[in-house]
Amino acid sequence: MDNIVVDSQMLNALSSCAYRMNLSFIQRLGPKAEMQDPSKVALLESGDLLHAIFKVFYTLRIERPDLSYSRCIDLSCNFGRTYAIKLNQTLDESEDILFHAVEYFKFYEGEIWVPMHVEKPFAVKLYESEEDNLRIIYDGIVDLIVDTPGGLLGVDHKKSGRKLDGAGLALANQFKGYAWALNMRHFVVNEVGVQKTKKPADRFLRHTLLYTDEIIEEWRKNVIYRAQELAFFLKNNTWPQNFTACKMTPDGQYQIACNYAEICKTDPGKPRDFVKAEFFAEKPEWSPQTRDVEIDAIMAELVQSA
Ligand code: SF4
Repeated sequence: MDNIVVDSQMLNALSSCAYRMNLSFIQRLGPKAEMQDPSKVALLESGDLLHAIFKVFYTLRIERPDLSYSRCIDLSCNFGRTYAIKLNQTLDESEDILFHAVEYFKFYEGEIWVPMHVEKPFAVKLYESEEDNLRIIYDGIVDLIVDTPGGLLGVDHKKSGRKLDGAGLALANQFKGYAWALNMRHFVVNEVGVQKTKKPADRFLRHTLLYTDEIIEEWRKNVIYRAQELAFFLKNNTWPQNFTACKMTPDGQYQIACNYAEICKTDPGKPRDFVKAEFFAEKPEWSPQTRDVEIDAIMAELVQSA
């Protein structure tokens, strides 16, 4: 039986352009210019840094109830400073993230959320059919699960430079997938705004998404359809391009935004292979299950020794 493992990022890519999904997730190619652009790398890394600091903070809150709230903040920030060196963040960049993390922790001191699990991975069978000869596994990792007076809640932290659109969030594959995997019908997107001109109350926002069983079932059927498509593409090594996903402005003018545009603008065959080799490089392997191996090792030691 064919096993197809999908996560929300693959699903998003597959839904927009199968050719892009193949380049990004199977060939694991990324544009060299972007991968080497210090400002783009720093932006991505600042999200990783915030995520790592939150992970340490909430883990300490669960595993070391003997430590005071302020001690957990201090230890998380110390960890952040060490981790920032590995990420090649400048001092200004990392201190900026630490500033927002501390503001966030202080803002929510005394809140009703009781953290229960941090970075909970899942890999759940979504579909199995002898007839299709196909098993679909959906995997992912939930940033935080908390207990509240209304029951358990799944939470995803989102660092953002501008206010998130709550209506758009509810439609995202990522959060419907979490709700399905956790068998919950509520999910919270924990917006961590980093706009320094705004007060904490205006930038630390929690968006509660509510789903019905029908919406989640509809999502599940969509995933099955996409995964069946993916099985077909893999079997036939066929990756159709979707040129409407390259980016088109309302007046019909192409405004290239896709990372792989230079590949698709070049003739297939040797010219395209040349463009790939010259301007693209292999991205590091990424999986929701293994993304934090290094952080986990440092954190386990910190939790023991604090
Ligand atoms: S440029 Fe367009 S066709 Fe090519 S991978 Fe990107 S979205 Fe797909």
